[in-house]
Amino acid sequence: MSHSQPDALRSRLEAVSERVVRAAEEAGRDPSEVTTIVVTKFHPVELVQNLYDLGVRDFGESRHQEAREKAAALPADIRWHFVGQLQTKKARQVRTYAHSIHSVDRLQLVDALDGADDETEVFVQVDLSGEPGRGGAAPADVPEIARRVVSARGLRLAGVMAVAPLGEDAEPAFRRLREISDRVREIDPDARRISAGMSGDLESALKEGATHLRVGSAITGQRPTAP
Ligand SMILES: *Cc1c(COP(=O)(O)O)cnc(C)c1O
Repeated sequence: MSHSQPDALRSRLEAVSERVVRAAEEAGRDPSEVTTIVVTKFHPVELVQNLYDLGVRDFGESRHQEAREKAAALPADIRWHFVGQLQTKKARQVRTYAHSIHSVDRLQLVDALDGADDETEVFVQVDLSGEPGRGGAAPADVPEIARRVVSARGLRLAGVMAVAPLGEDAEPAFRRLREISDRVREIDPDARRISAGMSGDLESALKEGATHLRVGSAITGQRPTAP
């Protein structure tokens, strides 16, 4: 498949990196403080390996089985970011390979992840749309979930995560996320991270303080349909 060829990947990776540098500088921020996670869901292991060979170390996946298989097949110094909706009964298994989990959106999930010896970084996912079903906690529920993460053993609260709602400008939505992030930092001053911004809206996210971008198709090319 031509879209996974190293040359095409390299030029798309460079193009996104230029977008990130430009947008960060326009926002008066240091581009080196922004982490770009390449979301490789539904793509084959070879594409991830090609990106690894180009220097990428942060990858995002949204399904447990697929993520586990890729983690087992690929180099151990990859940081896997779990970004998809997570079932409570699979939570502990995701801990075994994930560097961070971006989709913690309910107390039961925190309880399921609680109690491990090693440390996993978690983001509380916020629903900015007001429409249930796409994942994410209602903004009003975020402080309680954040407090539960802070008191759990083996979890470190990284900050907040969100996907921009459909049918609305991303920027005001990301501004609301930044306000929620401010509240979370009152609970834990170290929970400074904001995971926001995808292929189409990373500039808006950087303007509103995103520290972790989750970029898929702009780097990988078109995604195969879900297996
Ligand atoms: C697929 C996905 C992305 C990447 O989306 P693109 O539009 O391809 O950049 C980012 N975040 C989450 C949660 C995703 O599921």
